[in-house]
Amino acid sequence: MGGAVLYPSSGGDRVLLVEDEVSISEPFSSALAREGFVPTVAGSVAEARAALEQHEPDIVLLDLMLPDGDGRELARELRARSQVPIIMLTARGSEIDRVVGLELGADDYVVKPFAAAEVIARIRAVLRRSRQSEPLARLTVGDVTVDVAARRAWLHGGELSLTRKEFDLLARMARSAGQVVTREDLMSDVWDENWFGSTKTLDVHMTALRRKLGEDPAAPRYIQTVRGVGFRFAPAQEV
Ligand code: CA
Repeated sequence: MGGAVLYPSSGGDRVLLVEDEVSISEPFSSALAREGFVPTVAGSVAEARAALEQHEPDIVLLDLMLPDGDGRELARELRARSQVPIIMLTARGSEIDRVVGLELGADDYVVKPFAAAEVIARIRAVLRRSRQSEPLARLTVGDVTVDVAARRAWLHGGELSLTRKEFDLLARMARSAGQVVTREDLMSDVWDENWFGSTKTLDVHMTALRRKLGEDPAAPRYIQTVRGVGFRFAPAQEV
């Protein structure tokens, strides 16, 4: 058995196609290349691991039944070390495969046999989605600047001294500046997605954050309360 087939790079998104059926991988990798992607085909778990050691793909398409192992195991390995989007290639009518695939952290699944054009549309959608959710390195909203990677924030150029949760709240709201962020979203994003407790904690941290931003409770400049819904982070309009 040969190694993974690496197609010449043309600067497009790199797709690792893990699929042992040549009747699928050959036409599909050609379609990917025609659409500007850079496909690599791996016909087994071993080939996929070798390909992943050579370079990180932008997205992985993963067949579940491979000659030397289970694609789900590979998905688990990938998820343990990377957030690379994964689309599972599942057999027709295998509901359990779909559920398990999504539980393993796959972003989407496609049922075989599939049309190349449809899967390519899914790849584009998943890539677009995953890029939107990537935190921006540095956000500036009015006089507030947040460096997400460095976990630092400034007001009028002066660095703010924030606790971890205050920083997380600020970064989450700044990422959606101008939009309402619901209390539920803040609780799940900053605390825990399975949060069932009181939201008093949120209010305590929000009050502290507002104080550090120098907010006047009667006329907040940055964090507007949207009653019964949540908060909007936006610089107040100068009058
Ligand atoms: Ca297979």
